[in-house]
Amino acid sequence: MINDTHNVNLRSWVESANDPETDFPIQNLPLCCFLMEHDGHAHPHYGVGIGDQVLDLSMLWEAEVFPTDADEEGTLADELADAMGYPHWMGVIDRPDLVGLLRREAQRFLLDGPAGGQQQRRLRQRALHPIAATRFLPPVSLLNYTDFYASIHHASTVGAMFRPDNPLLPNYKHVPIGYHGRASSVVVSGTPVKRPKGQQSPESEGGAPGFGPCKMLDYEMEVGCIIGRGNEIGEPVGIAEASERILGLVLVNDWSARDIQKWEYQPLGPFLAKNFGTTISPFVVTSEALAPFRCAGWSRANVDPQPLEYLRDERDQREGGFDITLEVWLQSAQMRENGMGPVRLSRGSFRDMYWSFAQMIAHHTSGGCNLQQGDLIASGTVSGVAADSRGCLLELTWDGMENGKAKPRKGIELPTGEKRVFLADGDAVVMRGWCEREGFRKIGFGECGGVVVG
Ligand code: CA
Repeated sequence: MINDTHNVNLRSWVESANDPETDFPIQNLPLCCFLMEHDGHAHPHYGVGIGDQVLDLSMLWEAEVFPTDADEEGTLADELADAMGYPHWMGVIDRPDLVGLLRREAQRFLLDGPAGGQQQRRLRQRALHPIAATRFLPPVSLLNYTDFYASIHHASTVGAMFRPDNPLLPNYKHVPIGYHGRASSVVVSGTPVKRPKGQQSPESEGGAPGFGPCKMLDYEMEVGCIIGRGNEIGEPVGIAEASERILGLVLVNDWSARDIQKWEYQPLGPFLAKNFGTTISPFVVTSEALAPFRCAGWSRANVDPQPLEYLRDERDQREGGFDITLEVWLQSAQMRENGMGPVRLSRGSFRDMYWSFAQMIAHHTSGGCNLQQGDLIASGTVSGVAADSRGCLLELTWDGMENGKAKPRKGIELPTGEKRVFLADGDAVVMRGWCEREGFRKIGFGECGGVVVG
């Protein structure tokens, strides 16, 4: 899938896209949806990220500047023009050929060089909006959200807190563990997240549970896969074709109320501890943009069982992973007031996942469940072996056991002298992710951030 659009030498007339540190060079072109004011109303528009700007694709299609090469792909271009009229990218995202054409046309418009005439000169000015001043919507219509548990390091560390002698349950290496989340409370980066209230376990054995604001509010650094083409009910997606169903990836913060979770999770799994808010980044980095950054899946060396047949595919083993570096940053209200930037809490890698997205899709549909276009499949907390690669505070502030009892959690000291074991009101959590490989342009995901409000 690596082609001319990945050429490292391509440059754009949008100067900020040529900055080596930008998330959105001309080789990326991630999809988004945002609001534009006209005729006295806010209207949803489609865009792609380019440098520190959004290119307004809805305006360009309205102006009928595409295709620039009608003879070559006239019919497909007509289909794309038609599909651009549907809301939430419906009509486009289930068609990899249309997503590919859109990418080529957007790239052609943005390529460095003099504008081809007065209309294009005018459009170059009018079709760019600064990201910092843009009101984003979720990039697609999210009908369903499923959250997996695909990091073996996360599962082992968390397991050790509850079952020190037997941290990893016997099913883990056979079945991709997940639960159905709540799509209605998935919000786009920048939306404040309200601290939930809920039931918490009794303070003493046999006592009554309490009800009140969560005292152990946490984030979970995850990567989300957006489904392009769904499947019919009763028609599982085979592992070999599962990767083709991925429109692209976003960053996900699965905000988690640990005290509520601890009390409610048995026997049916998480419920209110996870459904009060899930933040996603506004840009979908497409499968095509990510093609150079595919990597081998988890190596099941001699000690690990091979996956069952329906989860095993040679190509998936070879290139089912994504080499994405992931970071979590925190800025307290006091840090903001003092003009201090955020501090980094962790840096991990998506290479470390035990299950690939193709395996999660194949498993999810194996019983006949239908995925739908725009569905969000999150990976579960991304944690590595190193202590500073742990993707949530539950793991980061854990200090192990002593004489059969958990030691007091380690506080993380902020530059203001404040300490954090879990999140405080006013804390901003910002996640970032990017891909790098020799011979290719570095690409990133933009920010996935939110402030905790009381
Ligand atoms: Ca999670």
